[in-house]
Amino acid sequence: MARQKLRQKDDKHEHCYIRDGKLALPYQYFAGRVGSRFLIALRDKKQILGVKCEKCNRVFVPPRQRCERCMEDLSDSWVELSDTGELTNYTVVNYEDKHLPRKPPYILAMIKLGGADTPLPHILEGIEPGKVELGMKVKAVFADETTNTILDVDHFEPV
Ligand SMILES: [Zn+2]
Repeated sequence: MARQKLRQKDDKHEHCYIRDGKLALPYQYFAGRVGSRFLIALRDKKQILGVKCEKCNRVFVPPRQRCERCMEDLSDSWVELSDTGELTNYTVVNYEDKHLPRKPPYILAMIKLGGADTPLPHILEGIEPGKVELGMKVKAVFADETTNTILDVDHFEPV
């Protein structure tokens, strides 16, 4: 067994020690009632669902339990959205991280789907970053195999 090392951080912090370590944090993520229904519809029906606040006349996607404006409970206010939408913003991701969905560079886009009032963040493929234009029409491309995540939509691509 490796012997633990205690190191002094520096002269100013003579009573502070740094110990090397590694944590294993297995866990299960609960998507919640609203998030679960959204992911199940995506997986089983290839449907993108949002929730509508009747008071504010706004449709949110990803869906949320409560309206961000009036706090109305939206968990039973489902609407089916189009799988096509409009690019409202984007950035090109140029750094690599094992938790990111793609190797860089890739385009992370904000997409306002037909029927929604809020944009959905997702990956845009099938176009060079220099040719992307705000307002362009894009369409969801569903994954062949489920991951039970938002990546059941593999990416969006220009229509
Ligand atoms: Zn509202």
